Formats: sequence, C-alpha cells, structure tokens
Amino acid sequence: KRKILKHNFSLPGSDLEDEDNEKREGTEADIAALYRFYSKHLEMPDHKDLLTLYSQVACNGFTVEDDELFQMGAAIYPDVALINHSCLPSVIVTYNGTSSEVRAVQNMKPGDEVLISYIDLLYPTEDRNKRLRESYYFTCDCNECKTKSKDNAKVKVRKRSDPFEPQVISNMVRYGRNSIREFRALKNVKSPSELLEMCEQSLEEMGAVFDDSNVYMLHMMYQAMGVCIYMQDADGAIRYGKKLLKPYSKLYPPYSLNVSSMYLKLGRIYMNVERRSEGVSALKKALAIMEVAHGKDHPYIKEVRREMGQK
Ligand SMILES: [Zn+2]
Repeated sequence: KRKILKHNFSLPGSDLEDEDNEKREGTEADIAALYRFYSKHLEMPDHKDLLTLYSQVACNGFTVEDDELFQMGAAIYPDVALINHSCLPSVIVTYNGTSSEVRAVQNMKPGDEVLISYIDLLYPTEDRNKRLRESYYFTCDCNECKTKSKDNAKVKVRKRSDPFEPQVISNMVRYGRNSIREFRALKNVKSPSELLEMCEQSLEEMGAVFDDSNVYMLHMMYQAMGVCIYMQDADGAIRYGKKLLKPYSKLYPPYSLNVSSMYLKLGRIYMNVERRSEGVSALKKALAIMEVAHGKDHPYIKEVRREMGQK
C-alpha cells in the first residue's frame, strides 16, 4: 500500500481529481519557491525529478513529533515506510533523536503483520477512509473499517425522549466537518480570541444535537484547548482538557499517543499552577502509555519522572 510511487497524482476517473489538482498546485508552488531561492547557488534536479521526490515524500515521509505531538519536522525512514496501515495498529512509531523506533502495542505472534496507523484514529470510518484516500490513495479494510464498531459512539447524539431525525444528524455532521475545515484554513489568519470564539460558537451549535463525547465536538474542544494554552489561559485549557480525556480514552485504541499526549499536556498545566496531586495523577496515566509506546528507557520517560519529582 505505502509504495514508493513514481507519481501520486492523477488517478484517472477518481472522485479525488479536485483535491488532486489542489494538491498539485500546492506542490508546484513549493517547487517554484525552491527554484527561486536555491537554483542560483545549488545544482537542482529538474522539474520532473523534483515533482517525483515531492510525491514520494508526501506518501512515505513521517512527521516527527515530540511527546505532546508538537510537530518538529519531517523525516524519511525507508524501512519503517514499508509498514502498512491499520485502524487497529499492532505497533506505534516514536522518535528518539534522529531515529525512529517501532514498538508493539498488542500481543503479537510470529508471522503477524506489523501495522501502524498513518492517520489520526479519532474519527469515524467514513472520515478516516476519506483521509486515507486523499493522502495515501487506498481504502482501508481492517476489522474496525469492516465492523465500524466505534462509529456510533464517535457520532453520539444527545439523549431525548423524541429522537432526532436522521436528516438533522447528518446535517450536523456536515456542519462539524465544515467547522473543522474552516478552523484549519483560518488557524494562521485569525487572532487567538477570534479562534476561541469560532470554537465556542461551533460547540454551541453542535451541542444542540451532539453529545459532549461526539468526535466533532472533541475536535473543536481540542482546538480550543490549544488556543487557551497559546494564550496561557490555564483554567480554560484545564476545562477543555478534562472534557477530552474520558472520551479520548474510550474512542482511541488502548495505547495511543493522542491519549498519552493529552494526559501529558493536562498534567503539565496542573503542575504549573501548583495543582500537584492532579498533575502527578495525570502524568502517571501518560507514563503508563508511554512506557509501552516509547519504551521504559526513552528520554521522555525520564523527563516526565523528573517533573513528577521522582528520580
Ligand atoms: Zn481501517
């Protein structure tokens, strides 16, 4: 599935052509910028070779993230890039210096396929597969995609004596997806307080139909928490973080860096505002996941223990 592709564009007749064109335009702009800045000083590959390289990196590259999933850069690991995707991954990739490390998060027998996740697994099956098709050009047929066992919980609606019409729910799902897209587009344009208002507005709108544990609600709460952290609003960040943790633990796989990083963020904020016992308890939960995903000797583990006041 994750092959070194010669070109990852132009699958004829696919419904992805618009997105393909958009992506292609973005890549062409990047290549033009590279030429503008470097072609006078460096020997550059020709346009076609650069396009090929860009496509290969897009499909095979890894985003290197720290313990709170803050993006630090991109890297190519040709061997790890051979590992296929599953929405129920058997292993997790972490980073240690410039190396990547792969550790099992499920019991595995000899001969079992090693599978990682290429995407954020919070979202329902349809959304995950849209993302996989857009970025990696395949549809997943893992057990979770076949059974969709978590989809109902992921798009949970409020309990009412008079249940919502399916049309009302699907309209709200569309609204949720639009809010996500809109926030992403305006993230680097609007001011933090404007962004926070966007989150609160869409949460209020969706909250009329969706349960607090609905993933479209969780997405906007996560963004709101990020804005609060940026604005150094500890109370706001804690308020959102606390709402995220329980559904996160339920909706993500048992060992997930999304869950450990959330415990870590919240734990560190608690420690910063001198709420030590809540802080230590959150950091302990992060450690329980990280000891499996990162391994007990990873520098991040030592750092968290130091923050907790242990040797
Ligand atoms: Zn799947």
